[in-house]
Amino acid sequence: MARVHNYYAGPAALPLETLEAARDELLDFQGSGVSVMETSHRSKEYDQVHNETIELIKELMGLGDNFKVLLLQGGASLQFAMVPMNLIGPGQSADYILTGAWSQSAIKEAKIIANARVAATTEKDGVFRSIPKQSDLELDPNAAYCHLTSNNTIFGTQYRQFPDTNGVPLVADMSSDILSREFDPAPFGLIYAGAQKNLGPAGLAIVVIRNDMLEKVNKGLPTFLSYTTHADKNSLFNTPPCFTIYMTNKVLNWIKKRGGVEAMEAENIAKGKLIYGAIDGSNGFYRNNIPHKDRSLMNVVFRLTSEQLEKKFVAEALEASFVGVKGHRSVGGIRVSMYNANGLDSIKDVVDFMNDFAAKNG
Ligand SMILES: *Cc1c(COP(=O)(O)O)cnc(C)c1O
Repeated sequence: MARVHNYYAGPAALPLETLEAARDELLDFQGSGVSVMETSHRSKEYDQVHNETIELIKELMGLGDNFKVLLLQGGASLQFAMVPMNLIGPGQSADYILTGAWSQSAIKEAKIIANARVAATTEKDGVFRSIPKQSDLELDPNAAYCHLTSNNTIFGTQYRQFPDTNGVPLVADMSSDILSREFDPAPFGLIYAGAQKNLGPAGLAIVVIRNDMLEKVNKGLPTFLSYTTHADKNSLFNTPPCFTIYMTNKVLNWIKKRGGVEAMEAENIAKGKLIYGAIDGSNGFYRNNIPHKDRSLMNVVFRLTSEQLEKKFVAEALEASFVGVKGHRSVGGIRVSMYNANGLDSIKDVVDFMNDFAAKNG
């Protein structure tokens, strides 16, 4: 069996042992004689998976009882609309901090629904290379919330420290760095993430909502689009994406077994040191011009000295069994996405490849 090094940005690599476990019980889930894909979402077997998944998210994120975890569909993209639909009250507006393509998509949807304003942007000539400083934020003290993208999957930047909004609830799209590091959830009114980067397969969006936000949810929304529906029904209002939730459950258990988010964070920092060290130590062969404090530990983007050389890099990487290293089509260059499932050993291998490639072509 030939498993390659997988650096796709999403859907992305899953821990090998979660795939093996799923394979082993694919035909007969826990002695039920059916696959978990074939069982009722009201069966006791599925119910256990569902509730344990919610509990594991709470435990791993360190969420108190003042937060609810919802398992929804429609990806992070539906949350771009559901967040303003549910949380911007009549006559209110929301703040958005723009740090990349995904936060631009989020504000675009918000503006269809209600008033949304830009509290800060780091856009310059169509690209985003940094995270704004606290002093760059022009915050509306009456905003319903302040939205940010914690990790910019395309531009390779990431918040190290979340902004102080003086009591205005933070809302965060954590699609590409959820469960990659520890943080204090207290200032967050809502956190959402598509599963397919750091949690599991595509088809699931996780929404963490604080109870006081849930109480403020707008009335009169279509049933399915209201957070209240899913909170009241424990995310079983209709058929959930059972198999995706089951795989996510396996990934969550894998994280827990390996020492939780604290251990993931330590490894992610070590991975970052290694690969950024190789970039910075390459005498300009590899270039990443993001301020060090804003560099993403999840998506490492860099350029070579010409597009021709970048093409060669991608082709030779593929030959050496490194897939998914081509940068996002909107920005070009190289991107190595290294979520929790890409361990330190895998990053050591790609760094060896980078060093060899630089030596041969520099
Ligand atoms: C991938 C991604 C999205 C889009 O997620 P979908 O689940 O495909 O809608 C949104 N935000 C961020 C930060 C992402 O990385």
